[in-house]
Amino acid sequence: MAAAAPRVRAGCPHCRTSFELDADALRLAIGASARTTFYSFTCPGCGEAVRKPAGERIVELLTGAGVRTMRLTGR
Ligand SMILES: [Zn+2]
Repeated sequence: MAAAAPRVRAGCPHCRTSFELDADALRLAIGASARTTFYSFTCPGCGEAVRKPAGERIVELLTGAGVRTMRLTGR
């Protein structure tokens, strides 16, 4: 029996819906500071590109779920 694919709850500020996304629908960018650390996805409801700040807990959650991570050098 295969484990369920990790899903991440997210909300869209444009159309104000919330939904669950597959981990591979999200991208996580980790910058030098919390201010440049964010995750992004395309809203399945309205198609807008959404970018949200990612705190430490969210980073842990997303990396644990297998979200693709990009490290920004900040240079
Ligand atoms: Zn939306």
